[in-house]
Amino acid sequence: MQNLTTIGFDADDTLWQNEALFQMTQERFASLLADYAEPDHLAERLEAAERRNLGRYGFGIKGFVLSMIETAIEVTGERVPARVIRQLIEAGQEMLDHPIELLPGASAAIEALAPRFTLVLITKGDLLDQERKLAQSGLGEMFDAVEIVSDKTLATYASAFARHGEGADTAMMVGNSLKSDVIPALEAGAFGVHVPHNLTWTLEHAEPPRAHPRFFEISELGELAGVIARIG
Ligand SMILES: [Mg+2]
Repeated sequence: MQNLTTIGFDADDTLWQNEALFQMTQERFASLLADYAEPDHLAERLEAAERRNLGRYGFGIKGFVLSMIETAIEVTGERVPARVIRQLIEAGQEMLDHPIELLPGASAAIEALAPRFTLVLITKGDLLDQERKLAQSGLGEMFDAVEIVSDKTLATYASAFARHGEGADTAMMVGNSLKSDVIPALEAGAFGVHVPHNLTWTLEHAEPPRAHPRFFEISELGELAGVIARIG
């Protein structure tokens, strides 16, 4: 193998907290609709709406708000008060204004790797929101490129690693989602490093490809240097 040249990083729940904010808003959603639906039933209907709408809205807070509104209309038999819709819109706006919280080891890992590798941030989500979070993180300068993509597939990684390096063979992808960050990157031929987060969205679950020779799992970003040293 040629030397590793490029490292791709996922952003949400890899560099900073994200899912916790969605879960907090979902609890607020459940309390707003407590008179109409049991929390479990509501969560199930919301997940179905999000799944149904992904192809239209993509990933991110704006699509999440529209799915909450759609679910509210559905579970109330079209009687949801305008006041509740307004509160759902405000909940989404608060998410979009929420200050980011970096995960342990994130800054130190990025700072240590930046001089040695081409670093690329590869993330899904709303464009403006991801740009805002990156600016707030203070890590923007450390990345050689930022790719805000509509989905993460084998083709996404093949093309990103070709543009920002020498192809997937000499690249690595690091992230909290096996389904989006690790498995398609491995399929493209890159190394895939899983950094599990205690909260991971149901739609991002997948089985760890433990037998894959380029698959690694670490418990926090501080351990990434050790993985890089091992693969040479
Ligand atoms: Mg993530």
